[in-house]
Amino acid sequence: MEKKPDNKVIKVHDRDNVAIIVQRGGLPAGTRLTNDTILKVAIPQGHKVALAEIDKGGVIVRYGEVIGTATCDIPRGGHVNETNVQLPRAPGLHDMPLATRSMPEAEPLEGYTFEGFRNPDGSVGTKNVLGITTSVQCVAGTTDYVVRRIKDELLPSYPNVDDVVALNHTYGCGVAINAPAAIVPIRTLKNISLNPNFGGEVMVIGLGCEKLQPSTLLSDQPVKIYENTEAADPDANILSLQDESFSGFEDMVNGIMAMAERHLEKLDRRRREICPASELVVGMQCGGSDAFSGVTANPAVGFATDLIVRAGGSVMFSEVTEVRDAIHLLTPRAVDEEVGQALLDQMAWYDDYLEQGQADRSANPSPGNKRGGLSNVVEKALGSIIKSGNSPIVDVIGPGERIRKRGLTFAATPASDFICGTLQLAAGMNLQVFTTGRGTPYGLSMVPVIKVATNTALSQRWHDIIDLDAGRIATGDASIEDIGWELFHLILDVASGRKLAAADRLGLHNDLVLFNPAPVT
Ligand code: CA
Repeated sequence: MEKKPDNKVIKVHDRDNVAIIVQRGGLPAGTRLTNDTILKVAIPQGHKVALAEIDKGGVIVRYGEVIGTATCDIPRGGHVNETNVQLPRAPGLHDMPLATRSMPEAEPLEGYTFEGFRNPDGSVGTKNVLGITTSVQCVAGTTDYVVRRIKDELLPSYPNVDDVVALNHTYGCGVAINAPAAIVPIRTLKNISLNPNFGGEVMVIGLGCEKLQPSTLLSDQPVKIYENTEAADPDANILSLQDESFSGFEDMVNGIMAMAERHLEKLDRRRREICPASELVVGMQCGGSDAFSGVTANPAVGFATDLIVRAGGSVMFSEVTEVRDAIHLLTPRAVDEEVGQALLDQMAWYDDYLEQGQADRSANPSPGNKRGGLSNVVEKALGSIIKSGNSPIVDVIGPGERIRKRGLTFAATPASDFICGTLQLAAGMNLQVFTTGRGTPYGLSMVPVIKVATNTALSQRWHDIIDLDAGRIATGDASIEDIGWELFHLILDVASGRKLAAADRLGLHNDLVLFNPAPVT
């Protein structure tokens, strides 16, 4: 095969009959590619070219898997995109191979550490943050106001505390609080306050008349969260604005400030200490994906996933709608049949949820994904699940549940960036890795978010928003392993506070967005 770097295409698997264009700005009609295919039309960067004649009804294969069938005859050198690819049926959820893959035990990875805030319950934080939980949206303006005052007036006296964050959200009232699915937003709120970065210092601001009573957020969770701390009086950690002892707004603010100060005193005593990499709990996510996601950033993330798992750490991958169409490739990787079945149960729950809303999976990918070269959700899924590396799947948790095991967990969440992020926070992640092809300034104030670009054009254009350029894999300047190791080291540096992720340096932080599958009343 003749090598002409400008005319390079990426074919992932031997069986593939399409490849993607690497050249920035795309290639014009008539271009002879490195594999001698001549482009029939101009094809943008990241988009697919047919490497062989594909007859109408013929299969289109990428990643060695069928991503769809041709809706018309496509010539060799033709542009393959959402207009000429028919979405295949989703794999059924019965008779799936469960826990059938036998893999040799991966070699343990020892000696890697980071400096984190160890909590008395054993969990480890990567930031030291005072989180102010709220039971209802009504109080959001007040908590924002108080957070500004705390930052100005109190925080300078507590130099070991990194930040103060109001955990505002749109839930709490006007909702069917007893509907079965309401368990999802409620447990999400409870579990977010248990995130290791908050050091167990839970305080709740409520209104008083809301459906979600503040005490619910503390009820079946011991107020004494950590073994070695004194059990606190639950009422001492809840403040309701309608409390009749308050006379005017300033009184409420003073009450919240006094409560915050008690927690700041405790948080200020936290210190970073050397912790093994096994204390990492990393959430993997992608957003604004393009056709490079599945060949550069996501495989590198998958390599880093395997490194963290080998080091004894915990990794979550999520985004049900982007996993659904590749579920047959995941169920064999479950450690046992129970975990395999739990994966299928989460897919079935989401199928049902979408059906109730008369939505279907073709709502994904987004228009931006399509412009980036992704034709449909199958192609997106194949490129997305690569983030999970090659490790066995040890556990499956539902939306808003806490992670239970070390190793690779599937944390079921919608693919929505901010909802997935919120649910991974509730699951207990202490760092998130986010891959993007189209670009997003996404960030979270509670945990560091490392953003990995799938292509060098984005990394250069957004040089101060992107943390790592995985596009070097497409240009041949780095291997998947190189970027995977680079990411692993970057994770340890950011978790230690030695390096700031771009989103934290710039203060780019998204809102918490709860997943509420229950009715709003
Ligand atoms: Ca996403």
